[in-house]
Amino acid sequence: MIFRLKHGEDITGAVIDKCKSKKIESGVVFFIGAVQKAVIGFYNQKSKKYKKMMINKPMEIVSGIGNISLKDGKLFFHAHISLADKNGKLLGGHLFSPTTVFACEAVILKNNTKFIRKFDRKTGLFLWNK
Ligand code: ZN
Repeated sequence: MIFRLKHGEDITGAVIDKCKSKKIESGVVFFIGAVQKAVIGFYNQKSKKYKKMMINKPMEIVSGIGNISLKDGKLFFHAHISLADKNGKLLGGHLFSPTTVFACEAVILKNNTKFIRKFDRKTGLFLWNK
């Protein structure tokens, strides 16, 4: 399915809402457009914590890609985003909220296999069970 996010909408919230309304528990998500502001993260593999970076300016969404699975019985959207500034310089990382869009087009491809996230001690992340 394809859809357009509303001006000012948070990407993660919008994708989760759309999946709930369409009963999608597993899938692949692609999105492009532009953000008003964004929060991206880098996972520190030693400390096992995300370093968050706030970007408080308009940026192009060069590429957004993610997936939908279940964590603790709830829908979980995991996405990474590449953003370009007015000079074409790229920044990117793990997508966090609030990342609000100026405009954004998204595609969700439903998958019929369920993926469930379980805590992985080695990485400190909730990874798929398959
Ligand atoms: Zn990530």
